[in-house]
Amino acid sequence: MATLVLKSSRKKRLEAGHPWIYKNEVERIDGEPEPGGIAEVTDHRGKFLASAYVNPASQMIGRVVSYGKLERMDKAFFVERFRACLGVRERFVEDPRYCRIVYGEADFLPGLTVDRFGDTLVLQIVTLGMDRVRGDIVEALVDVFAPKTIYERSDVGVRALEGLEERTGTLYGEEPPESLVIRENGLELEVDVVRGQKTGYFYDQRENRAAIRPLMTGWGRRSGIELREVAEPDGTTRVAPVNANGKEVTFPYWDGATVLECFSHTGSFTLHACKYGAKKVTCLDISEHAIETARRNVERNGFSERVEFVVANAFDYLREQVRALEERTARAKAGEAGAKVDTSKPLPAGAGRTWDVVILDPPAFAKTKGAVEGACRGYKDINLHGMKLVNEGGYLVTASCSYHVRPDVFLSTIHAAAADAGKVLRLVEFRGAGKDHPQLLGVDEGNYLKFAIFEVRSR
Ligand code: SAH
Repeated sequence: MATLVLKSSRKKRLEAGHPWIYKNEVERIDGEPEPGGIAEVTDHRGKFLASAYVNPASQMIGRVVSYGKLERMDKAFFVERFRACLGVRERFVEDPRYCRIVYGEADFLPGLTVDRFGDTLVLQIVTLGMDRVRGDIVEALVDVFAPKTIYERSDVGVRALEGLEERTGTLYGEEPPESLVIRENGLELEVDVVRGQKTGYFYDQRENRAAIRPLMTGWGRRSGIELREVAEPDGTTRVAPVNANGKEVTFPYWDGATVLECFSHTGSFTLHACKYGAKKVTCLDISEHAIETARRNVERNGFSERVEFVVANAFDYLREQVRALEERTARAKAGEAGAKVDTSKPLPAGAGRTWDVVILDPPAFAKTKGAVEGACRGYKDINLHGMKLVNEGGYLVTASCSYHVRPDVFLSTIHAAAADAGKVLRLVEFRGAGKDHPQLLGVDEGNYLKFAIFEVRSR
């Protein structure tokens, strides 16, 4: 077996639990490592550190797969690792049939991701070391998870860094169904693993979606609706919602929030909002296909009456709403002051609305380090306009999945937006990805998701 002998001058990253070994950290290679095969890793004195799979053609020449000696990654190796992965999900995920069951480095399986959609597994391989043993991976997955289908979605550009072409297709069992249904937090969602984004669904926000629950009720009082005792014809009384005119309100979601979800994809936050009692939700995405799926998901869960759908560019939509809102406010002010208001130009129809809760979960704006500045301008723009559309004392729910925009930078971007918007924000929650996306301390690359809930007040 070949040996990677590491330099004495390198940062002791491996010893700190980080599994990546770069070419420039290697002093010399003893023997001829087989591309994708296992090599021993030692420090410059020859002390054994780990076993790693190697790709001499990649800048990242090695990825640690064991801190003990390992001959090869075979079926038995994967069975053991997958069982451990499952154990974690069974402990921490409410329904482990629907979650990410393998999360690469953080599950000690660098380069391999597997999402479980009931009987369908979707896997993604991004390294040569894993690609080479795909047969063993599939057999072990069948052993541990007994799926009906294993489908590959390795259609990602990073494979090129490892000298690999993009690949998709069925690796085991039946062809995947055109759309399959998953369960999340008691909701049903349609997922398209073949044509959907990434592996078909973003499990990372599952616990964050549940976190919006407390925002969805408690708004009736604002519109003057309160619970009061009302008399029945037979002289008995019962408690019912009553409006400012003393009339009983029959709409069951009278206490619910009005919600705007932008970048909805297949409507996951919209569905949660409805389940938790929202009064009315505007569900917006730029993709017609995504909105069509969202519409079916809303219908499937029985929420159609409370949701309106918009196919639009969120940047434009938010800006347009703010412009109309500001114009309307200016007209009202001028009117109050007794000035003549030019109403010859009508306000754009449907524009200038506000919501109790605005949710923004955009795609990654920064795919590289160099793109951070531009990305932050994007985050600032949507958050600035988004928070202006939140009713006084309402909530902004905002996320970023750009790894390169670090959490502190994300928060300071929102802060800058608040300053410009004349708002004071109170941070209610700040979260990352769910427990099926474990995090190795010191391996920041896996810590990409930021999710925040802010209360929004005017200055
Ligand atoms: N919130 C979703 C994930 C969003 S993924 C969930 O929980 O599953 C990002 C979504 O943003 C995609 O569906 C994409 O179609 C949409 N999108 C990208 N650019 C957009 C834009 N400028 N305006 C509106 N939607 C956009």
